[in-house]
Formats: sequence, C-alpha cells, structure tokens
Amino acid sequence: MAVKITDECISCEACTPECPVSAILDEGNEKNPQDGFFYVKPESCVECVGHADEPRCVEACPTEGAIVWDMPYTVEFNDYFNSGHDAGEYNIRVHKKKGLMLPDQKEQPFISEISMGERESKANIARW
Ligand code: SF4
Ligand code: SF4
Repeated sequence: MAVKITDECISCEACTPECPVSAILDEGNEKNPQDGFFYVKPESCVECVGHADEPRCVEACPTEGAIVWDMPYTVEFNDYFNSGHDAGEYNIRVHKKKGLMLPDQKEQPFISEISMGERESKANIARW
C-alpha cells in the first residue's frame, strides 16, 4: 500500500475517479473485504508517485480521517500484508500463474518522506 480507507468513509465516491491506477473499490464491490465503506487495493496503490505530488484520493476526500497511511508495499512488509490478507483485512489479487500478488511478486512505489511511525499508527493523511 500505501494508503488505507477507514470506517470514517461516507461512501461519497469522490476519490474513485481521481485514482490514477484504479486502486479504489466501492463498498459494494465483491472484491472489497471491508464492510460498508470503500477500500484501497494495496497491491495497486502507488501513493500517486509519478502522477501527482500528493495522494489524489486525499485531495478529493471531504472526510477527515477517512484515508490514513499504511505500510509501504515492499518486500520488507511482505509478512504484514500476507497476515492481513489471511485475516481478511486485505484482499490481495491472485494471479493465475504467480499466485498471491504480495510485495515479493511486485513492489509498489511509496512516498519516502512519510515516517514508519506515521504509517504504523495509521496516521491521518494531512492535506499538503
Ligand atoms: S494514493 Fe493515489 S494511487 Fe493510492 S489509492 Fe489514493 S489516488 Fe490511488
Ligand atoms: S472520498 Fe473519502 S469519504 Fe468519499 S468514498 Fe472516498 S474515502 Fe470515502
């Protein structure tokens, strides 16, 4: 990941069309493991690196606390995302040949300026 949508989300749909990599699923999507609010696919989210200076979903979101930081989608956090997938917190995509698309299959870019402390605490993403 990346970023994570919390139960503060009011399902207003403002973020979805802003995502440059179509990483956001609405609350009714069958691939969304979260109950009643939107979901960011961690294996797809690039934190808008290469697309914008800040996460576009956050810029569009009207709800304080609906989008927070999560861990980088890198090999270092492979176990973190694997456990989260097993627990039903995430729903990582399964590739026909490669299997579960965890970071050891494909890492994603992340904003290096964000501290691991902010990520671990799922800090609210401040608007730039
Ligand atoms: S941070 Fe960027 S890439 Fe990630 S879900 Fe938000 S808009 Fe999409
Ligand atoms: S813009 Fe914010 S409140 Fe609206 S659907 Fe996205 S995360 Fe939820």
